[in-house]
Amino acid sequence: MKLTTPHMGTVEYLLTDLFARLGVDYMPPPPTTQKTLRLGLQHGPEFACLPLKLTLGNLIEGLDEGADATLMVGGCGPCRFGYYADIQRRIIKGLGYDYEAIVLEPPAHDFRQFVATLKHIAPDKSYRDIWNAFKTGFRKAQAYDRVDRAAIETRCYETERGATDRVREQAQALLAKTWSHHEVIEAETAALRLFDEMPRRDVTPLRISLVGEFYLLLEPFINFDIERYLGERGVWLERSVYLTDWIGPGTKNPVGGHPDEEVARFAAPYLEYRVGGEGQATVGHTVMARLHGHDGVIQLLPFTCMPDTIAKAILPTVSEREDIPVLTLIVDEQTGKAGVHTRLEAFLDLLVSRRRARAAASA
Ligand code: SF4
Repeated sequence: MKLTTPHMGTVEYLLTDLFARLGVDYMPPPPTTQKTLRLGLQHGPEFACLPLKLTLGNLIEGLDEGADATLMVGGCGPCRFGYYADIQRRIIKGLGYDYEAIVLEPPAHDFRQFVATLKHIAPDKSYRDIWNAFKTGFRKAQAYDRVDRAAIETRCYETERGATDRVREQAQALLAKTWSHHEVIEAETAALRLFDEMPRRDVTPLRISLVGEFYLLLEPFINFDIERYLGERGVWLERSVYLTDWIGPGTKNPVGGHPDEEVARFAAPYLEYRVGGEGQATVGHTVMARLHGHDGVIQLLPFTCMPDTIAKAILPTVSEREDIPVLTLIVDEQTGKAGVHTRLEAFLDLLVSRRRARAAASA
């Protein structure tokens, strides 16, 4: 079996490591490009949300490169993500591809099914082997997520453009060499120290929370690499979703640092129920942003995303009552980089002028 999967943020690090431990022949698809998007648009349903189209394009490109099996994450409602795997299987089979479509339930959703699927992919491995591989591989993926977090919290202070990216690459290289649990922990400590040791500008950066739909937050191709763009303009960022928090068992979110229950509690005065995806979390993180003294919030969502459209309808009220500016960016295949950057620049100008006005008022 030669297995391929779609791209999504740091998922490739997790899967490369996990499948190496399980002895599975894994090949990530080619990097996501305009060609990937074109394939997704050409074969995906027009009404589907953008992540379905892009991940469909990834799978087709992976199969074209020689894979004979695909792995797609399943999921539960109430949003369309749970249907992706089946819709994509039907579309790709309809195109005439002969391959095995495997669906992996996230461990947070159905751990038994998750392990059973890994056993199907790696039949020679015992359940103990699979558990050990997952435990260490997942801990390593958390370390990659922590490196990403350190990068978005550091880039605004860098004294030389690109310095954070170079340190991030060094940090990832340290992690890539690890195999045992102990090595992962040691490398993570060393990797995070690299960020602490970077020379820093003495500035008080704007602080912005990035909230919204998980795929858009995690995948730089489709969010126009917003983290790098804002970081290079001197903005400190807090991202509401990290891959391992999202797929991992438990609700504590050790990388992002805000447990689901805490986020839901802050959302509750505005949105009491889970509405699927990150809908409720988007509202909760926006309220929390104000309490943490952030200057603003940017919500990212794909066009037609049901959960974050609900959140979008609520955010103007949250923004007014909590006194925190919110910029919503809705992304689809027509969205252009220049338009997004123009709106971001205007938002940053607004935040800077609010800061000045506050400083003047308290002087
Ligand atoms: S959260 Fe929104 S964009 Fe993402 S899969 Fe669900 S409906 Fe689609």
